[in-house]
Amino acid sequence: MLQIHQFPCLSDNYGFLIHDPATGATAAIDTPDADEIVRQAAAKGWRITDVWNTHWHPDHAGGNAAIKAKTGAAVTGPAEVERIGTPPDRVVDDGDRVKLGGIEARVLNVGGHTLGHIAYVFDADNIAFVGDALFALGCGRVFEGTAQQMWTSLQKLAALPDDATLYCAHEYTQSNARFALSVDPHNAALRARSAEIDRLRAAGKPTVPMTLRVEKETNPFLRAPALVPGVADWEAFADIRKKKDEFK
Ligand code: ZN
Ligand code: FE
Repeated sequence: MLQIHQFPCLSDNYGFLIHDPATGATAAIDTPDADEIVRQAAAKGWRITDVWNTHWHPDHAGGNAAIKAKTGAAVTGPAEVERIGTPPDRVVDDGDRVKLGGIEARVLNVGGHTLGHIAYVFDADNIAFVGDALFALGCGRVFEGTAQQMWTSLQKLAALPDDATLYCAHEYTQSNARFALSVDPHNAALRARSAEIDRLRAAGKPTVPMTLRVEKETNPFLRAPALVPGVADWEAFADIRKKKDEFK
C-alpha cells in the first residue's frame, strides 16, 4: 500500500512524496520547491527515485532539474514539461501505466489548464493526484485548452469511484468556497463544508486531500449543469468558469 507524505511548499502549493515500502521507491509528485522536497524526503528516511509531473508550470516542474541533480531521480511526465528546460526521461499520456516500485498508477489526460495536463490514478488504493485540474471546491483556470475540453477532463475525474481520495496541488479552498457560495448559496452541504473549511484553516490544517463524493455535492464546477440549466453541460461549465475568472 502506498504511503503519502504531504507538506506545504511555496505560498500555497502542496508537495507530495509517495513511497512504496516494499521496494523503497519514492516519487515526488511535481517539484514546486526542490530544496524543501529533498529535505522532507530526508526527514522521512526516503530516497527519491522518481519525479512524476502533472504539467509544465514552474510551480509543478520547476524543481525537476535540481532534484534530478541531487538524487538522480528519473522524471516521468507529459511531453509539455520540456517547456521548463529538459524533456522528461519518460513521456506519458492518457492510458499509459507507470510504476512506483511494485505499485501501479494509470495516467489520465485531464487537459484544459494546460493542454498536456495529466493525473495519476492509483486504482488499488483509490487515490488520484490531480495537480491543477480539479481543486477542492474549484478547478484550474483554462489557460491553454477550451472550456469543452476542461469539462471533458473533469468528467474523467468524476468517473472515478465516489469514495476516491483526490490530492490537488494548491490550498485554494477557502477562497474557492467564497465563490462557490456566491453561485450556489442554497446548497446546505456546501454551507456546512465552507464552515468546516474555515475551522480547518483557522487551526492551520490543510483542506487537501478531498473526497470525490463531497466534490460532486459541493464543487460548483462539477455542479455546473444543475446551476446553469437549459444549455449543454460544457456551456454551463464555461459560464461558471467565466464567473469565477471575474469574481472579486
Ligand atoms: Zn498550473
Ligand atoms: Fe499550480
